[in-house]
Amino acid sequence: MQTMLKKYGLLVWLSLILIAGFVSTTVTSFIVSRDVIQQGISEQTLPITGDNVYSEIQKDILRPVFVSSQMAHDTFLRDWIINGEEDKDLIAKYLKEIKLKNHAISSFLVSEQSHQYYTADGVLKAVSETEPRDQWFFRIRNQKADYETNVDADMANRDTMTIFINYRIVDYSGKFIGATGIGMTLDTMKTLIDSYQARFRRNIFFVDQKGNIALAGNNMKKIRSNLSNMPGISGLAQQILGNRKSESQHLEYKSDNETILVNSRFIPELGWHLLVEQETSNEIKPLQNVFLINIAVSAGITILVLIILLVTVRRYQKRLEKSASTDTLTNLLNRQAFDFVFQQALLDGERSRQPMCVVLLDIDFFKKINDKQGHLVGDHVLKEISLIAKRSLRESDIICRWGGEEFLILLKNCTLEKATSIAENLRNTIANNDFSRTTDLTRTRLSITVSMGVAECRDKDTEDSVFERADQALYQAKENGRNSVYFSE
Ligand code: GH3
Ligand code: MG
Ligand code: MG
Repeated sequence: MQTMLKKYGLLVWLSLILIAGFVSTTVTSFIVSRDVIQQGISEQTLPITGDNVYSEIQKDILRPVFVSSQMAHDTFLRDWIINGEEDKDLIAKYLKEIKLKNHAISSFLVSEQSHQYYTADGVLKAVSETEPRDQWFFRIRNQKADYETNVDADMANRDTMTIFINYRIVDYSGKFIGATGIGMTLDTMKTLIDSYQARFRRNIFFVDQKGNIALAGNNMKKIRSNLSNMPGISGLAQQILGNRKSESQHLEYKSDNETILVNSRFIPELGWHLLVEQETSNEIKPLQNVFLINIAVSAGITILVLIILLVTVRRYQKRLEKSASTDTLTNLLNRQAFDFVFQQALLDGERSRQPMCVVLLDIDFFKKINDKQGHLVGDHVLKEISLIAKRSLRESDIICRWGGEEFLILLKNCTLEKATSIAENLRNTIANNDFSRTTDLTRTRLSITVSMGVAECRDKDTEDSVFERADQALYQAKENGRNSVYFSE
């Protein structure tokens, strides 16, 4: 493990750096973009929707207020009350006319003096202070403002939201004499909510001051349910209901692991809070795709860089290993590498009980060649001899440059006799070779001879002992006139 870490430490560090870099930039850009999108929705899109809905509603609300104001100031209506509410048909006709002209759902007049409730169809009833449904009348009788809006969801029929304008009527001296006004449907608002919901996939609804849902689009069936019963947004109920200023506020809550942005504003004319909600997942989904693509591309790049690096490092290491084990001039194994190979071969030979020989080769009078022809020719001779040796020997035989102009050959699965004959052949080939043919360094024929000592590896032989015997045989060859092969018995 530790050697692995040492060997691949660079790769591990590099991958960690790449992964950390890619992940941090991708995650940061994702978070920043997501926040920008959410901020855009929260601070621009939703308030704009709220503003649009609000301005549409204002039209819906202002028209009935205007009509009701006209009614309350009508001299006919005021005179009719002051003169004792005599001809009931007259006032019914008047209310009918108003109702039809303004497409109102109802029009009404309540007299302070008689407590009679008049509609387009005549007298409906008498209002009573003890009747909860009539409370509105006694409320506006005492209020300072000219009118109030009262929205009722199930007054006329269950689904039609109706907005009533209750306008105070005063006589010519300013004394309260009754209330009048019309009731209009809020259908336009509902249609508007539906179209906004369909177009922008936003949820738009109103809650009253107690948090009850007062008006919502068609896809929100739970009218009359309360904010505090709605999962997620219930936590915001206090904040929403507490806001009575005209500015809208940005809020958010989590529902099923999804962030839902809420824009809430108070509509004073209705006494309601307008809420616009939007899920952010649809907006963020493309961003998530980009995020995944980025991660995939980063992973791809990391893997590619690592592969390239691994291949390069491997190749570099191989080259290093090779250069450490081979001799640069002859491309043969060097002495260190040979030591290792030889130990291995010694073990193999012991196991397989096959004979194995070493041949020590030394060039005769090599100093003279260097001296007379120069070192370059000397080098050429070394190279040429290594080539000749490679050519003459088997693939399984191992040649090594032992020292300056000495070579060591390991002949596996080979008897002493066979080894001596192989060495003799090699000596002969070298002796008959014209070394000047393969170089421009010299033009005259260049003959070289070599001397060799052969020794067989015996049981219990060490590297040193067998080389010692080969060296002795070589010494004999040198002593006895060179250009010959001697073996140690
Ligand atoms: P002999 O072995 O026949 O007794 O004589 P010799 O001239 O070969 O004797 P010796 O072993 O003393 O000489 C070896 C010479 O080889 C000395 C050294 O300058 C030369 N030599 C060693 N390595 C290289 C090499 O890489 N290139 C060249 N050009 N010469 C080398
Ligand atoms: Mg020598
Ligand atoms: Mg020599």
